[in-house]
Amino acid sequence: MARKCIASINLSAIKKNYLYAKSLAPQSQVIAVVKANAYGHGAIKVAHQLEGDADCYGVACSEEAQELRNSGILSTPILLMEGIFEESEIELVSQLNLWLVVCNSLQVQWVLNNKSNFKFNIFIKIDSGMGRLGFQEDEFIKVSQLLENSKNVESITLMSHFSSADNLESNSTDKQLSKFNSLLGYNKKQTSLANSAAIIAHGDSHRDFIRPGIMLYGSSPFPFSENFKDLLPVMTLSSTVISIKRFKKGQTIGYGDRFSCKKDTTIGVVAIGYGDGYPRSARDGTPVFINGSVAKLAGKVSMDMITIDLDGVLNPQIGDRVELFGDNIPIDVVAENSNTISYEIFTKITNRVYKTYIS
Ligand SMILES: *Cc1c(COP(=O)(O)O)cnc(C)c1O
Repeated sequence: MARKCIASINLSAIKKNYLYAKSLAPQSQVIAVVKANAYGHGAIKVAHQLEGDADCYGVACSEEAQELRNSGILSTPILLMEGIFEESEIELVSQLNLWLVVCNSLQVQWVLNNKSNFKFNIFIKIDSGMGRLGFQEDEFIKVSQLLENSKNVESITLMSHFSSADNLESNSTDKQLSKFNSLLGYNKKQTSLANSAAIIAHGDSHRDFIRPGIMLYGSSPFPFSENFKDLLPVMTLSSTVISIKRFKKGQTIGYGDRFSCKKDTTIGVVAIGYGDGYPRSARDGTPVFINGSVAKLAGKVSMDMITIDLDGVLNPQIGDRVELFGDNIPIDVVAENSNTISYEIFTKITNRVYKTYIS
C-alpha cells in the first residue's frame, strides 16, 4: 500500500462500548446493530468480535444476513430489521434461520402463506410516531391476531423506533412510549424499542431487547455533542502529508479560492479527500491532528486531497501522519463541522481506504 490512507479499527473498543450499552440495560437482551457493513466498520469483523456476547445481530436486508452466516456466524440470531422485500426471500429466512420484522400487510401474508414447517420468530413493527415503517393502531390489532393464530409463528415481539430520542429537549419519545404502551394492552409480549440514544437517555424504554448501533462505534448518538467519556473511539481515519509549501499573505488555497491566507502561512496537503469518504462539506477550521497538535482544514476538500494550515505544528514533514478523526479528534466534531452526523461519515468511507484491525 503506497498511499497510506488508513482506517484503523479498534475491536476491543467495540467490545467495551458493547459492554457499556449492556451495563445501562442489564435486564435486556442486546441486538447489536451491524447494518450497512457495521456502519462502515466491517460487519463480519464486528460480529465475530461480539460473538458470545451479542444476543442477536440487526441488519437491513437478507444480503447482509447471508454475509454473516457465510462468515461462520451460524447460531446467533440475525434480525432483518425491515423484513423482506419480496416473497422469494422467505425461503432464505428459514434456511438461514433469521428473525423477521413485519411492517406491512404483504409481509404478513408471505409469512401466513408459507408452506414449509418453519416457525418464524416475528417482530411486529408498530408506528408509534416515527411516521415511517410500522403498523398504525387498527391494522396492528388485525395483524397481530392473524399472526398469533398462525401455526407458522413461533414467537412474537412488538417493536417500535423513536424519531427523536437524540433530542433531549423533545417530549416525542415520551409520547411514543405511551402510544406504544397503550397498544400493548393485555398483550404480554416481548418488546423492543431503544436505539443508542434511548439506551442512554430513556431507561424506561429498555424492555426486552435494546438495539444499540452508533454507540458501539464510539460516537455519541446526540448530535453535535462531544464524545461521551464512556464511549471509546473505534475508527481512527488517517493519512499522510504529501506536500508542504509556504504561501504569502493574500494567496488562496484550493478550489474556489475558499481559503485566503491572512498572513504568510505553511500549508500541507494530505492524501485524503471525499473520494475516501472525508466529507466534502467540511468547512475551513475543521480540526485534524498532526505531530501532537491540532491543525485546521484550509480550503475546500478535493476528491483525493485536503489542505491544512500547518502554522503552530511542530516541524512538519512530508510523510507525517495526520488523523482526521479517532483517538484525538472526535468524529462528532468533524460531523458538526460538516453539517452532518457521524453515521453518514462512517458509512461513506470508501473502499479505497485500507482497513486494519487492532485488538
Ligand atoms: C439503525 C437502527 C438502530 C440503531 O440506531 P442507533 O441510533 O445507531 O443506535 C436501531 N433500531 C433500528 C430499527 C434501526 O434501523
